[in-house]
Amino acid sequence: MEVVPTKTHIALLASPGMGHLIPVLELGRRFAVHHRFLVTIFVVTTDASAAQSQLPHYSSYQDLLDIVFLPPVDISHLVTDSMSIVSQLVLIMRHAMPILCAEVARLKPSPSALVVDLFGTEAFEIADDFGMLKYMFNTSNAWFLALSLYYPHQDETNRRDHAYLHKPLYIPGCATLEYEDTVDMYLLPDDRVLHDDYVKIGLDMAKADGILVNSWEYLEPKTLKALRDPNLLGRFSSVPVYPVGPLIRPVKQVENSISRSTALDCLDLQPTGSVLYVSFGSGGTLSADQLTELAWGLELSQQRFVWVVRPPIESSSFGSYFRQDKRTEDGTPDYLPDGFVSRTREVGLVVEMWAPQTEVLAHESVGAFLSHCGWNSTLESVINGVPMICWPLYAEQGMNTAMLSDHLGVATRSREVGPDGVVSREVIEKTIRRVMEQDEEHGKLVKAKVLDLEHSAKVALAKGGSSHGSLELVAKKCQTGLTSLRERARGA
Ligand code: UDP
Repeated sequence: MEVVPTKTHIALLASPGMGHLIPVLELGRRFAVHHRFLVTIFVVTTDASAAQSQLPHYSSYQDLLDIVFLPPVDISHLVTDSMSIVSQLVLIMRHAMPILCAEVARLKPSPSALVVDLFGTEAFEIADDFGMLKYMFNTSNAWFLALSLYYPHQDETNRRDHAYLHKPLYIPGCATLEYEDTVDMYLLPDDRVLHDDYVKIGLDMAKADGILVNSWEYLEPKTLKALRDPNLLGRFSSVPVYPVGPLIRPVKQVENSISRSTALDCLDLQPTGSVLYVSFGSGGTLSADQLTELAWGLELSQQRFVWVVRPPIESSSFGSYFRQDKRTEDGTPDYLPDGFVSRTREVGLVVEMWAPQTEVLAHESVGAFLSHCGWNSTLESVINGVPMICWPLYAEQGMNTAMLSDHLGVATRSREVGPDGVVSREVIEKTIRRVMEQDEEHGKLVKAKVLDLEHSAKVALAKGGSSHGSLELVAKKCQTGLTSLRERARGA
C-alpha cells in the first residue's frame, strides 16, 4: 500500500492590529500555496468581533488557512494612561500565552515550526516545549529589525546623546537615524517599562532559528549585509535573516457592482494617475486642528482625491489602533470643515474609516499616496509603483519616512511643521501640488525611482528571485524541522 506522506504543518501567531495580521496571513498563504503546508494562524485580539469583522476583506485566505481567533485578552486593569502602545501589546501577548499553549497542544499533526511577529517572541518557550522550530517574522523593514537587535547592546552614551541631545543614532553598518525620525524608545527615554520591553524583544529574537523580514535584497542591501556581518550586527545575533518580501495582500477581483466599493467606482471615472489617495493606516488619527488643515490643503490643491477619514483624537496618534470596527457607512463627518464635502464633490471622495486599500493602490487612476508610512502601506504603494507623500504618526513610521524619502527617493516629505505641531494648509497644498502636477520635475524623478523599486520587488518574488528563494529555504527547514529537532533532543 502506498504511504501518503504527512503534510508539514506550521503555526503562525499574529499580534493585535491589522498591520500585523495582514502580513502574517499573507506569509501563511505562501506556505500553503507554494509549499503545500497545513497552516494554522493564531490571532490575538483585544476584540475578537472587530478583527473577525475585517475578515470578509480577507476571505481568500479562509479556504487555505485555519484561522483561530484566541479569546480576547482584557488587560484594561493593567493599562495606565501613559502606557505606550508597545508595552500594551507586550502585555496583551503575555496574557495570551496560556491559551496559546493549550491550542498548540491540540494541533494535529503537530506543527514543526512556530512563526511569531515582533510582539510574539515570548511564545518561543512554547515552541521549545513542543519541540518546534521557532521563527520571528519582522513585519517591518530590515533597518528597524537592525535597530531592534542592536537596542539591548547599544552604547549607553550614544543612546543618551540621541534621546536627550537629539544627536544621530549609530546602528552598526546601517544608515544612522536622525532624531526627527526616531522611534518611541528614544522619544520616551524615561519610560523604563518600554525600555525593558524592547530589550527583552531584542534578546528574545536573537534566540530564533531564523528571522524572516518583509523586505527584499535590492531594497536594503547595506542593512542586510550588516545584519549578516559577524563584525557588525552579527556580533549580537547569529540568527539567519531571510528577506521574504514584499508580502502584501493580493488584489481581490470584484466584478459585482453591489459588493464593489464606492472608492473603486469613483476611481473608474478618473483619468490615469490623477488621484491622490490619503490614508493613515488601520489605526492612525489626527487632531481636530490637523484634520481641518488637511481638509483645506486638499481643497486648495485642487487635485482629485480619495480620503479615508477617522474622527479626530487629540491625545494620541494611534487612537484608533485597537478599535478597527467602529465605522459608520453614511453621512458627512461633522469633524470636517463646513461644506467641505459639497465643495469638493467634483474632485474628491471622503470614505469613512476603511477603504479596500490594496485595490485602490492598484487602480490606474491613483497617482500618489499621502500616507502615514506604515510598512504594509509602504509596500502596497511600492508594488504598485505609486509615489508617496510621507506623514508619519507613530511606531517606526519616521524611520520608514527617512528610508523612503531621504535614502530611496521614492517619496516626498515636508519638514515644515508649525510651532503648535500642526502642518498648515499652505504647506499641505504646496506639497501635494509638487507631487501631483505633471510638469513638476520632482514628481517625474520620484515616479521613475518607484517604478524601479516596483520592478525589483516583482523580480524578488518571482520563481528564482531572492525573496522566493529565501522562503524556500525556510520551508525546507520546516519540512525537515521535526527530524532535526528530535536529533537535537537525542543529543546528536
Ligand atoms: N488598510 C486598508 N484600508 C484602510 C486602512 C488600512 O485596507 O482604510 C490596510 C492597509 O492596506 C494595510 C494595513 O491596513 O495593509 C495597515 O498596515 P500599515 O502597516 O500600513 O499600518 P498600521 O495600520 O499598522 O499603522
